[in-house]
Amino acid sequence: MSMDALPAATAADAPIFDPDAFRLTPREAALAARARAFGQATLAPRAARWDREASFPTDNYRDMHGNGLLGVCIPEAEGGLGADFRAYCLTAAEMGRYCGATALTWNMHVCSTLWTGALSEDLEMPEAVRAEHRRRRRLHYDRILREGAVYAQPFSEGGAAAAGAVPFGTTARRVPGGFLVSGKKIFASLAGHADYYGVLCTEIRDGEARPSRRDTLYLAVPRDAPGVVVEGAWDPLGMRGTVSRNLVFRDVFVEEDAALMPPGVYFQAAMRWPHMFMTLSPTYMGIAQAAYDFTVRYLRGEWPGTPPVKRRMYPTKQVAVAEMRVMLEQTRALWFQAITEARPDPGKDQVLRAWAAQHTVMENAAALAAKAVRTCGGQSMLKSLPLERLYRDARCGSLMLPWTAELCIDRIGREALYEKGETDD
Ligand SMILES: Cc1cc2nc3c(=O)[nH]c(=O)nc-3n(C[C@H](O)[C@H](O)[C@H](O)COP(=O)(O)OP(=O)(O)OC[C@H]3O[C@@H](n4cnc5c(N)ncnc54)[C@H](O)[C@@H]3O)c2cc1C
Repeated sequence: MSMDALPAATAADAPIFDPDAFRLTPREAALAARARAFGQATLAPRAARWDREASFPTDNYRDMHGNGLLGVCIPEAEGGLGADFRAYCLTAAEMGRYCGATALTWNMHVCSTLWTGALSEDLEMPEAVRAEHRRRRRLHYDRILREGAVYAQPFSEGGAAAAGAVPFGTTARRVPGGFLVSGKKIFASLAGHADYYGVLCTEIRDGEARPSRRDTLYLAVPRDAPGVVVEGAWDPLGMRGTVSRNLVFRDVFVEEDAALMPPGVYFQAAMRWPHMFMTLSPTYMGIAQAAYDFTVRYLRGEWPGTPPVKRRMYPTKQVAVAEMRVMLEQTRALWFQAITEARPDPGKDQVLRAWAAQHTVMENAAALAAKAVRTCGGQSMLKSLPLERLYRDARCGSLMLPWTAELCIDRIGREALYEKGETDD
């Protein structure tokens, strides 16, 4: 039997983070429970289809609009569910358990509300600028809450900008009433499916010597604005339902109200709120949990639709599951600590721990999924079961800029050995 036909009576999954054991707030526990119930009932049965077709999970987005999840990080006072950073991470991990592509694309959408909402409230801006920012973000929030509008987050360009090393090559020039946006983004999840592309770009001013990262703008470009082109094929190893094709912007006009953040505020966020770059990790925390859960149920002979053959009595299986459990506990503990520490102006240890947590989740999700395949055996990697999809999706986590597994190691090593301003000269 395929995942598309899971029996309705499947028992409810336990939380990844037990609310009592991890002392979650009532809001966190409730949001995670909402995502878990939705994921198990709605995302899991559909996940094989998006993966097989490399098609966008439009049906899931329709249902997420219906149950409020599109507005998870929109402040409560503005009609959303009011999740802060940690509440969002815990909720997103539950989504990732059931459909990696949906959780990952949902993250791109949610960032357009988390960054403009809870995160912006922690940043400095003059009162008049803040008032204008709040007025503008309400336009975006209304679209999301009333019309079910979905936002993408095209960031990557194929050069060093997405890693934070140089300014974005995509540019915005001021013209009467707004901006003209030009450039190209690669790997733009939700390409052709989002209603707005939340484009990170560099404002270019006449007479300025060279572009600066300080002038990064975050603009919501409507999908059907003249000059927006979606191009390229999408047939990847994993995360196939993200439909991360290329986006080209050719002198695309957007109004001033398209600014999702005031000038300079994205740069301030990147400098002062570094945990904002951890939001890709919850999906993979969920995948790590799912790979472990699958292994336990499969070895117990309890995976729906498979013969009730038990494999749990072999010592080799027990050792493998024990090793997986140790790795899962390490991953959960470090990740939970890092998402708990997220705040403006974190200390050096906290930033090193955030990189370590990101690296750990991304690498361990892939390692757990690989071990699950080896331990469960040949039948477990048939496409009628979700494990081989988890295995392929998990492999993508380490590649995600700006905090790829490599870049995390690079930064931890350098920052652990050098204090600010130190050189060997
Ligand atoms: C499923 C999926 C969905 C994605 N969705 C989105 C999306 O919605 N929006 C978006 O913006 N991007 C998205 N990405 C893109 C992703 O974040 C990366 O930008 C993309 O994978 C870059 O691939 P690349 O081979 O061009 O990387 P390259 O830039 O060639 O980098 C290759 C590796 O080199 C290392 N590296 C890169 N720059 C540096 C540096 N300055 N110093 C040292 N090492 C460096 C990194 O470890 C990196 O992994 C997605 C990627 C995947 C796999």
